[in-house]
Amino acid sequence: MLRSPSPVFNRLLDRIAQMPVVDCHEHLRGPERDLRDLPCEPIAALTTMYLISDLWSAGATDREIGFLQDPDVSTGEKWPLFERLWEACRHTAYARVTRLMLKQQYDIEEITRESLELVAEHLAGQDEADYLRLFDEAGIKAVVADVLFPPPWERPVRYFGSPVLRQFLQGRFQLPIIWHPVFSLPYYHEIRLYDFIDFVSSLAEQSITSLAEYEEALYTLIERAVEKGVVAFKDQSAYRRIIAYELPSRSDAERLFNRLLIDPRQQLAWPDSKPLDDYLFHQMMRWARELELPVQVHTGHLANARNRVDKANAAHLAPVLELHKGVRFDLFHGNWPYLGDALFLAKNYPNVHLNLCWVHMIDPLYSQELLKRAVLTVPHTKVFGFGGDYFLSPAHSMAHLTLARETIAAALTDLVESSWLEEEEAVQLAAEWLYNNPNRFYRLGLPEFVP
Ligand SMILES: [Zn+2]
Repeated sequence: MLRSPSPVFNRLLDRIAQMPVVDCHEHLRGPERDLRDLPCEPIAALTTMYLISDLWSAGATDREIGFLQDPDVSTGEKWPLFERLWEACRHTAYARVTRLMLKQQYDIEEITRESLELVAEHLAGQDEADYLRLFDEAGIKAVVADVLFPPPWERPVRYFGSPVLRQFLQGRFQLPIIWHPVFSLPYYHEIRLYDFIDFVSSLAEQSITSLAEYEEALYTLIERAVEKGVVAFKDQSAYRRIIAYELPSRSDAERLFNRLLIDPRQQLAWPDSKPLDDYLFHQMMRWARELELPVQVHTGHLANARNRVDKANAAHLAPVLELHKGVRFDLFHGNWPYLGDALFLAKNYPNVHLNLCWVHMIDPLYSQELLKRAVLTVPHTKVFGFGGDYFLSPAHSMAHLTLARETIAAALTDLVESSWLEEEEAVQLAAEWLYNNPNRFYRLGLPEFVP
């Protein structure tokens, strides 16, 4: 934890540890798929998602990263390389979550060659009940899940279609009862090939011979997804483009779209395709208003290595936030490392909310600072305290939640000890952040929690 224990901190952490939680952002896809796809080889399993980025940052080559993540290479072969890289990273917050996970799940204090054998045994023995029990024991009452797009290892399909959406709309992508899926937007405005238009056409069972017909067909799919339980839109375009959306004319967009229609062998490419991407993004914001769906947006830090965070700064979104007043926006990840921009946007725009998913494990001191400053600057109804943001491994998410609870308790303790808040007010704020605010915002219909 990032503060010395004090009586106030201990009391707050005790109360916060008992609170129900809405997990505001996950890529977990339920026990059936995650248990099938999580590698049984412990180094591949432990480094899933985030720790691998720190190993990369420590100097591992791309080939070494592939080697460590290969489930078919034995732990013994990987160990010397992993041990060296782990030593370089062991104090980062990603490493802390990994260690917390090992402690919580397996009572392991230190990663050693021997302790990894124990992890391997447990991984092999996991079942559906174990998976779901983790959420129950952590007090998670709802999971807002970004799962309706192909997982990273199937991304080559990006410009051809989204088999996952097809399965979902056909009722073949079952999720546990507390899961609430979101509709992932980037695929549908980042159009590069005719094949994708064809995919939307076949799924909607509507022929597409113009931009207007594409919009109609896509809207049909979105309506059907909402009927099947989708609670929000999600956009993570920041991984591939600057999130500055201009407002191009429809004819500029149409000209690009028509190139694919009239000759399906043509391809569009960034940045020439920007007017079409931007036009469709704005169209989706209009649909969000119509369907009263909140819009989650990735802002700030990007997973993996060698991307450019400047294009992901939420400050670029200001014109979108300003134009679409009738849309509720949910900005992700504390916009790390652009803290001041996140606070400004949430303070200045009534339709902007801050979602602290992932950021507790990117930089817990930053999220502690962000929460404290948010209390002083932003109405507390606009802050969502936690999202685990993991693929495949719920155990990592639960460890992340432990770190988040400590960070929230630390931020609130500072404000109580400096007499800004009464202790009971701090408890109330934690309950709003972790549960009541997201429950209201996503209209999950759970009972209010009174701490
Ligand atoms: Zn995510």
